[in-house]
Amino acid sequence: MFELPPFRKCPKCKNEALGTLSVGGTMATKRCKNCGHSHGEVLPDVDKRVVYLDQFVISELYKTKTKTRRPGAPSEQFWLDCYSLANRAYLRQQVIFPTSNLHSDETIVWHSPSELRLAHEMFSGDISFEDTHSVAISQEWEFAEAYLKDLEVPSLTFDVDDILSGDRNVWLPIYHINVNSDLSIFAPGLRESKATAANSLKQLADAWAKKRSTFDQILKHELSSYGSAMRHALEHEVTRTAAALASNDPSSLLEISFGLQNRYRQLAGLFMERAVPGKTAATFLDWVGNEQQPAHRIFAYLIAALGWRVSSGQSPALTAGILNDFIAIATYAPYVDAMFVDRQCASLLKQGRLRSDLNYKARIFSMSNKQEFLDYLEELADIASPEVRSCAHELYGVEL
Ligand SMILES: [Zn+2]
Repeated sequence: MFELPPFRKCPKCKNEALGTLSVGGTMATKRCKNCGHSHGEVLPDVDKRVVYLDQFVISELYKTKTKTRRPGAPSEQFWLDCYSLANRAYLRQQVIFPTSNLHSDETIVWHSPSELRLAHEMFSGDISFEDTHSVAISQEWEFAEAYLKDLEVPSLTFDVDDILSGDRNVWLPIYHINVNSDLSIFAPGLRESKATAANSLKQLADAWAKKRSTFDQILKHELSSYGSAMRHALEHEVTRTAAALASNDPSSLLEISFGLQNRYRQLAGLFMERAVPGKTAATFLDWVGNEQQPAHRIFAYLIAALGWRVSSGQSPALTAGILNDFIAIATYAPYVDAMFVDRQCASLLKQGRLRSDLNYKARIFSMSNKQEFLDYLEELADIASPEVRSCAHELYGVEL
């Protein structure tokens, strides 16, 4: 490593040679390139907002950054502005845009795995969201505890730091060193489950259209299906595992997932250990209290809103991607400050009951209110204190 400009006067040899060697945590290490004197300087405290960006946003921002966006492609000025405002707020240590296991959309063509990785690291601050399954499991366990103790539905806390891996409020390193990047979120297996998801969504949509289901009917069904959905998904996973093991194709083994089986085994273990008469993991799955599990509930509302659009004769886009968007919103919206999602999802969230019944922290942005997102990013950059701005200017060269 070597010292980076700007160079200040060294307290020891008095030459204008004291540069920045590194930034780690809340400390900048300065070293003189002339005499080697070094010392640490404490950086001001920061409190970074957390924003979830949909995969397509990350892709557009990356293409904007690397100037690989097709000239004249739609919303060119918006993406240019969005990149520069996001970058300013990010370098002023006001916001991070963590990566998620949902960011693996194969519908976007990447030239290389390293490009995909760079795109995701671009504004993440080396922080990722806990994967959506883990968040669902932790909510499930809090509810299982309440069920075991005959308590009411628990009210959960939604501290964003509980769902982040990494320390949100450290200053960004000046050299980008990605020792901690967990690329397992781009693992295979997601592909297949996505194809399955698209398929089952199509079947659902056909049923909604045929039955002319109302919003309330679909919502009621979705909310009460916690147990049946889990059983169905488990069954599917077990069948797929068995088929892969029986086949002679080694690559099919790579697609095996034990996620749900492990999840259920652990839950069953909890109930066995507690040995409360009449209570098992199976009876818990059918507990009416589960309707209030945050991720399950928000997801059910989104499905109901989508289903109602289908059954009332509108033709909403039904891609597998939309389920990913639903999972992202259902999982992260209670925790994060803002989300930039697909236009259709944003409009579903504005639908009557979703607006009145659901409480979550996130402000929702999409291409439908894109100017508001730019304003939001600008506000974030502007709230940085003069002290933070001055350090950010010195360390990362971002405008004062
Ligand atoms: Zn010196």
